[in-house]
Amino acid sequence: MTSVAARRAPLAGLLAGAVLAAGCAGPAGPGASTPGAGSPAPESSVATLPPKPPKPPKPPKPPKPPKPLAGRVVVLDPGHQLGNARFPSEINRRVDAGGFAKACNTTGTASDDGYPEATFTWEVAVELRKRLRRLGARVVLTRDDNTADAWGPCIDERGRIGNPGGPGPTADARVSIHADGNRSSSAHGFHVIRPGRRDGWTDDVLVPSERLAVALRDALVEAGFAPSTYLGEDGIDVRTDLGTLNHSDVPVVMAELGNMRDPGDAAVMERASGRQRYARALASAIRAFLAG
Ligand SMILES: [Zn+2]
Repeated sequence: MTSVAARRAPLAGLLAGAVLAAGCAGPAGPGASTPGAGSPAPESSVATLPPKPPKPPKPPKPPKPPKPLAGRVVVLDPGHQLGNARFPSEINRRVDAGGFAKACNTTGTASDDGYPEATFTWEVAVELRKRLRRLGARVVLTRDDNTADAWGPCIDERGRIGNPGGPGPTADARVSIHADGNRSSSAHGFHVIRPGRRDGWTDDVLVPSERLAVALRDALVEAGFAPSTYLGEDGIDVRTDLGTLNHSDVPVVMAELGNMRDPGDAAVMERASGRQRYARALASAIRAFLAG
């Protein structure tokens, strides 16, 4: 028997220790204050702790402000197509350019290094589309790719994309993107072409198109681009012979972003950072125009 008692004594001590430990962590269990089981658990200090106040409900998150161009539609028209030169009969066929006939399209120019205008306009348009989408706009391009295996579309089709009653969404603005190819050594800088008056064709969009042209000119100047030294006035030209402008029933301009035959302009166009500068300026112009 003595051996059993001897075994029990250390067991009781262990139990007391266990109870004590439990008392520290939570409500004392039965036997916590059993006489002879060690010091009483600190019941009183636990009992007097004030109940935790309920957490206040989280305030609902404020709704995100709408994006500045949410609900707006912008048509971007990257000039030409890389394959136009391979399809002469297709691009030379005559189409209606606004009451007169003109070639469906042209090959576009290139820099002296061989960087094609079609590729430049495509790359600026894609960069610009990214920025406009970020602002919430829906962007429609007049061509789906930049490939040597394709040509067009023709200027009349480019000019109608985004018109009310067309197959796609009606545009709030259309910007045609080009670059010039002037061989004069002093010719450099951008110019923005707005439609001139052609009754029955452009009279409905003259005023907002002029505002769009001014917005583009101002943004390009602010971004550090120099207005043309050889065309237009203060970076803006007016033309009545361009099918892309004449067919439009929404505010429209054509941006000739520089002269690809000028080494200074071409150096900017050939760099991704330069094209991003153009796209940033154009996005800010379109945003300013649509906010007005
Ligand atoms: Zn062009």
